[in-house]
Amino acid sequence: MDILFYSIPVFLSMILTEVLISYTTSKDNYNILDTVSSLSIGAGNFVIEFVGHLTFSYIFQNHFKNSFQILFNITPNFNTYFVLFLLDDLTFYWFHRLSHECRLLWASHVVHHSSDKYNLSTALRQSWTGFIFSPFIFIWLNILGFPSEMLTVARSVSLIYQFWIHTELIENMGVWFEYIFNTPYHHRIHHASNTEYLDCNYGGILIIWDRLFKTIKTQNSEIKYGITKQIDPNQKYTYNPLKIAFHEWINMFSDLEKAKNIRDKFNYVFRGPGWESHSSTKT
Ligand SMILES: [Zn+2]
Ligand SMILES: [Zn+2]
Repeated sequence: MDILFYSIPVFLSMILTEVLISYTTSKDNYNILDTVSSLSIGAGNFVIEFVGHLTFSYIFQNHFKNSFQILFNITPNFNTYFVLFLLDDLTFYWFHRLSHECRLLWASHVVHHSSDKYNLSTALRQSWTGFIFSPFIFIWLNILGFPSEMLTVARSVSLIYQFWIHTELIENMGVWFEYIFNTPYHHRIHHASNTEYLDCNYGGILIIWDRLFKTIKTQNSEIKYGITKQIDPNQKYTYNPLKIAFHEWINMFSDLEKAKNIRDKFNYVFRGPGWESHSSTKT
């Protein structure tokens, strides 16, 4: 959390630099209201994650730690950090992939995809409800024996890495870098709402997981950023952080109410975000 805190001024100066470059080169990738909205959502996420993290650490240390056997006694050094970075990144890949394939998780992750702009401020548009799920997804690393302090470092490094890839100013990073690492090129495709680009390029720091699990896609047509369905059906676009943070939860609960049977209720929560009881949709 400390490293993340100290990164904030760096993030903000990089955003300012990108705004200046965008305006001087007449690129249309910033909108003031959209950026204010992303920054407000980012600030909300930071506070919620901070409180959520403290609460989880407290519960884990005082109530949970003794209820299971820690498998190995792992101490921090170069080798154990290296293994942790690989395992943490692999866990992130699956968490992120599930966040697109299961509506319960999408309800929180959709926030990150809700902007139709792609710039550094979009990176800070992070979920307010993801903290409910992430401790359960990453806890297996605790059980393996990695101390919580090491896990916090790995999570923070991953989040910091994923900041700079939210830009249109970098075309590509060269062949070998693009092969191994997640880059602006790969992540732009991940943020596309075009049907052909949905559900791909889930990697955090490394893109090799997408190569391994066959979820990698390359760009061959113009990208349209954002989500396939407008947040507010009465408006063309919304900048309201509260609506952005909670709209998919509200939609999911209203679908649950409408569902005719238990099977439909289950499908509305656990199947893909585009699942409908009366039709199969492309999304
Ligand atoms: Zn995503
Ligand atoms: Zn992103």
